Amino acid sequence: MTPADLPVRPCIGCGYCCKKAACSAAWALNRTNDKNECLELVYKDGRYWCGLVLNPPDHDADWWKNQLHVGAGCCCGLNSDRARLLEKNNEASK
Ligand code: SF4
Ligand code: SF4
Repeated sequence: MTPADLPVRPCIGCGYCCKKAACSAAWALNRTNDKNECLELVYKDGRYWCGLVLNPPDHDADWWKNQLHVGAGCCCGLNSDRARLLEKNNEASK
């Protein structure tokens, strides 16, 4: 199995990927702290969002969304943050 064979699950905004590693845009814009965490990761309405999409520094939100593949899907779907948020969302919808 190669990475291309892994199932892509919906992104639900658990924030795991961005907490694990700030993306190249965060680095290029100096939006990381001394722990190499992204300063653009925003927690709002029970999930995480990318601040570059919420409040674009230039271009527009769609441009940033496309550049960063925000919402395109999750290829680290087995992480515990995503599983926890999924369970919480499922409980809330009952
Ligand atoms: S669901 Fe996946 S892609 Fe979405 S924030 Fe969590 S780890 Fe990242
Ligand atoms: S800039 Fe956005 S996509 Fe990149 S690491 Fe930060 S929150 Fe995630």
